[in-house]
Amino acid sequence: MTQDIEELARKFALENAVNHDGKANAGSVIGKVIGTEPDLKDRISEVKEISASVTAEVNSLSAEEQLSQLRDIAPELLEKEKVAKELRLPDLEGAEGGVVMRLAPNPSGPLHLGHTRMAILNDEYVKRYGGKLIVRMEDTNPEAIMPEAYEMILADLDYLEVEYHEVVNQSERFDVYIEWATKLIELGKAYMCQCEPDSWRALKEEQKACPHRDADSDTNSDLWNKMLAGEFGQGDISLVVKTDLDHPNPAVRDFVAMRILDAEHPKTGDTHHVLPLYNFSVAVDDYLMGMTHVLRGKDHLNNTLRQEYVYEHLGWKKPYFHHYGWVSIEGTVLSTRQIKADIEDGQYPGWDDPRLGTVAALAKRGIQPQAIRNYWIEVGIKGVDIKFAWDNLFAYNKDIIDPIAHRYFFVWEPILVRIEGAQALEGKAPLLPDNPDAGYRETRLTADEEKFIYLNLTTDDLDALNPGSNIRLKDLCNLEYLGDRKFKYIGNDLDILKQGAGIAHWVGADNVPARVLMPDGETTYGAVERQAKDDAGNVVQFERFGFVRIEEEEEGIVGYFGHK
Ligand code: GLU
Repeated sequence: MTQDIEELARKFALENAVNHDGKANAGSVIGKVIGTEPDLKDRISEVKEISASVTAEVNSLSAEEQLSQLRDIAPELLEKEKVAKELRLPDLEGAEGGVVMRLAPNPSGPLHLGHTRMAILNDEYVKRYGGKLIVRMEDTNPEAIMPEAYEMILADLDYLEVEYHEVVNQSERFDVYIEWATKLIELGKAYMCQCEPDSWRALKEEQKACPHRDADSDTNSDLWNKMLAGEFGQGDISLVVKTDLDHPNPAVRDFVAMRILDAEHPKTGDTHHVLPLYNFSVAVDDYLMGMTHVLRGKDHLNNTLRQEYVYEHLGWKKPYFHHYGWVSIEGTVLSTRQIKADIEDGQYPGWDDPRLGTVAALAKRGIQPQAIRNYWIEVGIKGVDIKFAWDNLFAYNKDIIDPIAHRYFFVWEPILVRIEGAQALEGKAPLLPDNPDAGYRETRLTADEEKFIYLNLTTDDLDALNPGSNIRLKDLCNLEYLGDRKFKYIGNDLDILKQGAGIAHWVGADNVPARVLMPDGETTYGAVERQAKDDAGNVVQFERFGFVRIEEEEEGIVGYFGHK
């Protein structure tokens, strides 16, 4: 029976190690052993002791050896059994009959990671309940528009696999806002204000009406028509929606709905200079476009309160509003304005630079749309504020790409070394360790006239060696280090690993240069197997280094680092 415990512990320790970067956890092993043989509970201390010692032993093995032992004793465990976490958003109130929802980006730049949340959540719900997802470009402020952003945003949504049904630019609807503003004036729910903005705000703070607030609707209509006719200049007058001067939050007390702006609009040119501000155009559009549910961040809570006044004034039925918590995202650059300026300054070559948190940059690094989706579904729509967990995003990504990313040796800071004692060496390494059908990388290295074989190792591996020590070149052969970058061939027996030899990666003489751009702005230079070129455009795993999306460039390969 002790024998059985040991066998069980060994197979679970190997499995655990293979799935956790070579380090098994004794606690999990004990749990699995007891889970499989509940009767062993009576002998728990024995189980603990054996599991702990077997785990320690397994952890001392190289990853290659762990894998090969697991393959020998329990191949069935190689299929990573993943307990699929239930990834499901909570139901939305009142959505059973279908929904109309929207994504409302500002075309001031392409989307970044922060925006992906609203895109994914709205898309998920429309997919679940059926209905319509409208992309509404909120381009009412000509001064904040980047003309290329309209197309870039749609490309980002396509990458995210968001299925939108309609795209509307608010700039096509300037007359609609004018029409409903006119209506508010007629109803006495809005006034034409000619105060200095500061004094108007100061009065609101004191819950006092400005001198224009109580003007009758004829006076307001008259001024409004003059505003529309271009009789006022920018900043001279604006249309203000009445809310409640006693509202506890001063930010919600009356708000500007329409203003004059002399700027030329990239879409409409000079046709309109009386332009809506965000809260008004959004309320009008959400209603007229038939939104059933508005799902947005908590940072919009005050805006929702303002927008609700428009609904009330006009007798409109409100959609369900839902506000999810704030996510702070650290470790990348997100500010659209900043990025734009820095691109213009030449600090970044473009919006997809791997230092940036744009969707384009994530795509370039091989972060899969489904990983981003899973991440946001897991976070859900609760009101709590959270910190973005990159590791979780990467874990989702790894789940997707690990089974399909071809493996290659990447040797950073390569050093040419010399091997004696062999005429030829043949390397055969699987493209996918768990799927031999994917094929192999095969290399044949032959000795020169002086009977030496040359290949490249990384400086790190070489520096760690002392003359007389042995090392295994993965999927190639074993070597003894003679010192001074010289090695001797000593066979191909994997048992060398049990004797404590380390594993090194290598590339033959026909390697191609590779540089990997890291998200922190650093570049790692090295060499990669030539065959990697066949994977240009794909995410691959540079063994021991990480998942990298690679592209071909003149000199060889450029990679964009995804994650470990
Ligand atoms: N254009 C707004 C934004 O991007 C829309 C927010 C909303 O109304 O949900 O913040």
